[in-house]
Amino acid sequence: MHEKCGVVGVSLADRAAARPLYYALYALQHRGQESAGIITHDGFQQHSHVEMGLVGDAFDPADIASLNGSNGIGHVRYPTAGSVDSSCAQPFSVSFKSGSLGLSHNGNLVNAGALRDELAGLGHAFTSDGDTEVIAHDLARNLLDSGLVEAVERTMGKIHGSYSLTVMHDDRVLGLRDPQGNRPLCLGELEDGYVLASESAAIDALDGELIRDVRPGELVVLDPDGSGYSTYRLTTLDHTAHCFFEHVYFARPDSTIDGKLVYEVRRELGRKLWAENGIDTDVVMPVPDSGRAFASGYAEAANENEGSVEFAEGLMKNRYVGRTFIMPTQDERERAVRLKLNPITSTVEDKTVTLIDDSIVRGTTSTQLVELLRDVGASEVHLRIGSPAITAPCYMGIDMATREELIAADRTVEEVRETIDADSLAYLSPGAIADALDTERDDLCMGCITGEYPYDIDGEPTDRPVRQPVIADD
Ligand code: AMP
Repeated sequence: MHEKCGVVGVSLADRAAARPLYYALYALQHRGQESAGIITHDGFQQHSHVEMGLVGDAFDPADIASLNGSNGIGHVRYPTAGSVDSSCAQPFSVSFKSGSLGLSHNGNLVNAGALRDELAGLGHAFTSDGDTEVIAHDLARNLLDSGLVEAVERTMGKIHGSYSLTVMHDDRVLGLRDPQGNRPLCLGELEDGYVLASESAAIDALDGELIRDVRPGELVVLDPDGSGYSTYRLTTLDHTAHCFFEHVYFARPDSTIDGKLVYEVRRELGRKLWAENGIDTDVVMPVPDSGRAFASGYAEAANENEGSVEFAEGLMKNRYVGRTFIMPTQDERERAVRLKLNPITSTVEDKTVTLIDDSIVRGTTSTQLVELLRDVGASEVHLRIGSPAITAPCYMGIDMATREELIAADRTVEEVRETIDADSLAYLSPGAIADALDTERDDLCMGCITGEYPYDIDGEPTDRPVRQPVIADD
């Protein structure tokens, strides 16, 4: 399961939650395009609308009007290659003896199987193979004999992996971030209530104010009348495991995540890329849009030091082509890159070019682009990448390809350069990422570049002393 998603929750004084949730999901659309959903609660009952497709297609005005109540949660789900499965669309909802529950999950549990087996043994029936349903059932069970905070704490003691959740228990909206804070989640204030969202750009879309990030291991409970919130730090660990790739690629550049504006982080990474591996060429150009902030920081640093690098757009992006990454075959992925990006001849012809992107995963994009730039007359093509080489899969929720598909998994930098056919290739160092984020390497999840993970994943080494909880009937 690769659940790289966007979550939101709002509690308002006396306004329907559906429309603000809908706008927030629009702002989080980049985090998931497979399905979109909203669940609200009107004080008596839940209302739900979950549909496959983009936010704009999933809801019509009648759907929004039918979602009554001033409290609610929403979700956008990331597409995975292969089958599109509506049973995994979210928010997930379940009614049980002590009320109704709705869950929106971003992340990936690594012990969902064990927990599912335990709950199935106790008579719980599951309708999907997703890990969110497992969390929902465990929480529902705990709520039968515990108060809300204690029930969440008990569930938290059993689940292992990355999760940022917005949850609705009857009309109460909560936000929960895993003890290592892998996936982002933040809290904001609106004129007439409060909001929890994966990224602050969703709070901006509602004219709200970002209050702060939800802390790792923290539960935030919104008052159903929109008047305030309570917070509970349920666990505190020595180190966090924030996902650096949110800053590099996934999050919107206009979002603030864990106290840092993503755009500024990317520009700083670009500056460091120049400092570590700058090369003098006629022109510096980004791969749009993923390389843009990196390239502007890189060119700025180059000009401070050398004086005369031209920063130009050399590739035009067709914004109507979806993500090439999720195309099922290599042939289709290559075709899609050519459809998506077309060169601007005047900036490329007879020039030495530095092409900047955030990351190389399978190598499809960079191989295609180097060839394309050479075809239109670039005399040299140098690649500079704003993150370290990705050599291992992500188990924490980013759809990153398997180890066999990763171009750098079993190649040296020189071998990758050769495969891509660039004149030179350089990546950014892991240390530069930690520096740009003003943090320690130990506080970041770098599993995809080191192959060692901050979670206890079957068959993989860990980078810190972590253990899956022992699952036993309590
Ligand atoms: P690839 O062509 O497989 O090497 O993928 C690299 C390109 O895809 C870069 O332009 C990245 O900006 C982008 N990318 C990186 N990670 C992901 C991801 N998890 N999902 C979709 N696109 C990605």
